[in-house]
Amino acid sequence: MLDLKITKRKDLKPKPADESKLGFGRIFTDHMFIMNYTEGIGWHDPRIVPYGPFELEPSCMVFHYAQEMFEGLKAYRAADNSILLFRPQKNIERMNRTNRRICIPEVNPDDALQAIMELVKLERDWVPHSEGTSLYIRPFIFATDPQLGVHPSKTYIFAIILSPVGSYYPEGINPVKILVETEYVRAVRGGTGFAKVGGNYAASLIAQAEAERLGFAQVLWLDGIEHKYIDEVGSMNVFFVIDGEIITPSLDQGNILPGITRSSCIELLRSWGYTVTERKLALSEVIEAYRNGKLDEAFGTGTAAVISPIGELVSGDDRLVIGDNKIGPVAQKLYDTLTGIQWGRIKGFEGWVVKVC
Ligand SMILES: *Cc1c(COP(=O)(O)O)cnc(C)c1O
Repeated sequence: MLDLKITKRKDLKPKPADESKLGFGRIFTDHMFIMNYTEGIGWHDPRIVPYGPFELEPSCMVFHYAQEMFEGLKAYRAADNSILLFRPQKNIERMNRTNRRICIPEVNPDDALQAIMELVKLERDWVPHSEGTSLYIRPFIFATDPQLGVHPSKTYIFAIILSPVGSYYPEGINPVKILVETEYVRAVRGGTGFAKVGGNYAASLIAQAEAERLGFAQVLWLDGIEHKYIDEVGSMNVFFVIDGEIITPSLDQGNILPGITRSSCIELLRSWGYTVTERKLALSEVIEAYRNGKLDEAFGTGTAAVISPIGELVSGDDRLVIGDNKIGPVAQKLYDTLTGIQWGRIKGFEGWVVKVC
C-alpha cells in the first residue's frame, strides 16, 4: 500500500461547460500524482498535488536521450454515476514490460493501480457525462539525472495526469483513409516497437505529417526489414476480415505494440465463435484478397477510438475501397460490445471492469 500524501488545490478550476468541444488531451484536471525514484531507495514520496509544471534541470536526461515511457487508459461514467476502468492491470503489466526494455525501474503493480484509483476518485467530478466521453488517464515515467553521460538514469519521476476527452465519433463512426508507408519504418525486430515509449512517436511524426498533408488520417506501417508485412496503423493495431477469417499481425517479432483493445477484441471474437488468426500478414495478400472480392473488412483498434474502420487503403497505385467505405458487421459488433462493457451497460469477462467509486 502506498502511503499517499494528498495536497488539494484551494481554487478548483471550472469544469468544461460544453462537453461536445472537449477534443483530446487539451484540458487537464486539478490534481496529478507524482512519485520519485532514487537508486538505493526505490520509489518514494507518492503524492497527489495540484496539477502544475515540473522544475527540471536543462541537463535532465530525458531531454537528451528520451528515456521515457507512457501509458494510456480511460475512466468511464456509468449510468448510475459510478466510475469504471477497463482492464487497468493490463496497462500496468505493459508499463513494466516497457520499463524493462528501456531500463526504467519497475513499479509495484498494486501501487500503480492504487495511484490511478485514488487520483481518479479525487477527480471523479471531472469524468464527463455525455455519451461517448471519458476521462483519459496518462501515466508516464521519465529520467531525471542532471547529467549528459549515456547510461540509465539513477533517478526518475512517475506521474499521472488526467484529461476529460470528447467522443471520438460525434457524428457516428466514419471509416478512415489510410496510406501505406513505404519509405519510413516505425520499428524493427530487436527495437522498441512493443514498448510504449515517446521515442517511437518522435520517429513516426514525419510519415504521419506527410500522410495528413496528402489527405489521409494515418499511415499503415510495414515491417522494418522487408517492407512487406503489415505491422499496425498509427497508434492502433489492425485487423482484416478475409473470406470470413479474422487476421491480425502476430506480436512475436516484438515490433508491434500489444494493444489491450487488440487482445480484448481477440478474446471477444473467439468467444463468439469466429476464427481469429495471429500471424504474419503480407500487404500483397491483402491486395490479392481485395482483387478477388474476399476482403470483407479492415479496422484499427485502440483505447482512443476503440474501433476505427478503414474505408480506404492506398498503396502506390493500388487504391482499396473496403466494405463500400462503411463500417462492417464485425467492427460494429466489436464497437458496440466493447463500449457497452466500458460504460457498464454490458457485462464483460471476469475482471475486465474495475469500479473506482
Ligand atoms: C497505445 C498504442 C496502441 C493501442 O493500444 P491500446 O492498449 O489498445 O490502447 C497501438 N499502437 C501503438 C503504437 C500504441 O502506442
